[in-house]
Amino acid sequence: MELLSLHDISYAYHNLKGETPALSHISFSVSQGEFLAIVGPSGCGKSTLLSMIAGLLLPEEGDLFYKGKYITDCGTGAVMKVGYMLQRDHLFEWRTIYRNVILGLELNHSLTGENLDYVSKLLKDYDLYAFKDKKPSELSGGMRQRAALIRTMAIHPDLFLLDEPFSALDSQTRLNVSADIAQIIRSTDKTAILITHDLSEAITLADRVLVLSRRPARVKCEMPIRFAVDRSDPLRIRSTAEYQLYFNQLWEVLTNEQADAPKG
Ligand code: ADP
Repeated sequence: MELLSLHDISYAYHNLKGETPALSHISFSVSQGEFLAIVGPSGCGKSTLLSMIAGLLLPEEGDLFYKGKYITDCGTGAVMKVGYMLQRDHLFEWRTIYRNVILGLELNHSLTGENLDYVSKLLKDYDLYAFKDKKPSELSGGMRQRAALIRTMAIHPDLFLLDEPFSALDSQTRLNVSADIAQIIRSTDKTAILITHDLSEAITLADRVLVLSRRPARVKCEMPIRFAVDRSDPLRIRSTAEYQLYFNQLWEVLTNEQADAPKG
């Protein structure tokens, strides 16, 4: 089932110095349970696109649909619950892990018994229950990212928006944590859009990769990603022939894009 679709979306930032076009005639859709990765040159408009899907920005042209309903006028936030994960985990050091992961529920005034049971289950399932009374600084980078994911999951989002959530981790941790988090999202049949500048990460984690052009972003190419082997082992995925093929094809699109850029 189609969850979200964007039709011919364009957007420009306006300030006293003039206008910065960021998105140009973007169209794509995301199915329920799909994991979509978006890659593109730095500064091309990826975060702008995510903000628009989150309902934080309204398109200047084009329409967004959620489950077939027209949502452009009211922003996605009005009809769709979005869970955002950012580069930094934004855990508060003055709160324990437990009090951090219930923060979204607290802000939404939805600290019900059912929701708190769900949080406890998530903490147990993802091996953080024994650490629930610790402070964020007492946890490893990977554990902190899992705590940030639980905080996001606690509010039962319809859609996860992941804006470079692994880039603050060292490369070894990043490989395992990203696979872990993708697996958790996949196993709960949640829908996710991941923004990353790391092509390997996009191919390893996503069901489909969308490549954006340099600014203003247009959709350069969409590539479905399928592997015969289990997705949970990132090293195994990266040693397959399919991975190499996807990487080469997408790399070519991205490097052509950079070569097309005007000089100076
Ligand atoms: P990406 O996430 O791909 O790095 P962004 O979506 O953050 O790119 O930004 C796209 C372009 O829009 C960049 O050139 C950036 O400088 C510009 N931009 C982003 N936010 C603003 C803003 N609030 N005002 C003006 N220009 C902005």
